[in-house]
Amino acid sequence: MRPYILAETNWENMNNAKIELAVLPWGATEAHNFHLPYATDNYEADLMAAESARIAWENGSKVIVLPTVPFGVNTGQSDIYLNINMNPSTQFAVLNDIVDVLNRQKVYKLLIFNSHGGNNFKSMIRELGLKYPKMFISLTNWFSSLDRSLYFDDPGDHADEMETSLLLHLKPDLVLPKDKWGEGKEKKNKIKAIKEGWVWSERKWSQISEDTGVGNPKLATKEKGERYFKAVTTRMGALFSDLCEADIQNLYE
Ligand SMILES: [Zn+2]
Repeated sequence: MRPYILAETNWENMNNAKIELAVLPWGATEAHNFHLPYATDNYEADLMAAESARIAWENGSKVIVLPTVPFGVNTGQSDIYLNINMNPSTQFAVLNDIVDVLNRQKVYKLLIFNSHGGNNFKSMIRELGLKYPKMFISLTNWFSSLDRSLYFDDPGDHADEMETSLLLHLKPDLVLPKDKWGEGKEKKNKIKAIKEGWVWSERKWSQISEDTGVGNPKLATKEKGERYFKAVTTRMGALFSDLCEADIQNLYE
């Protein structure tokens, strides 16, 4: 039983616990190229948050990891079989209820540990900040926490070299053999500004990728995944400790 994982701990432990920081991992359930499991984002969120919390806990930080929310925003993938979309308005309702519990029980620090590119929590955090002024709500996208080019050769953003390497390290039994890996080739938008990246529009996933991947997984290895996992969780472990120690009444230098 890991005392920093809410799903594993018990009332005996929690009855008088003084938790400083709650961490809420948030994933998605969606196809990841041909070869990775639908719960890829959830496994990444679960295992990274848990390992980061272990590091922080062993450093004396009172952190608790909540169960991972398994559904994300998949509005652009509505025609991809059994991608389970959770609308932003539903996510807001879920987040509101969790924040309400934490606020009532005086756990005033929350970190959303986001694992899915389609999830956007910033505007929700602004609105909840007004509603719950005692709460300090923060957000990290673990996949943007480090310069990925130091760990991987081929950039991508979905079921790519990075995610395939991570799953080869974390859940090797759930990765299909290499001859099943699609190329993750992305068709770019014909509108120049969108292609250049200074105008955003949601991608219609089934039209931009044949295999649902974006980014070629070909150069993925278990070793790359392990090295990146260690680097991310070391950084996140230090972040969890920093957040535990922060005086939220006196945040600015
Ligand atoms: Zn993913």
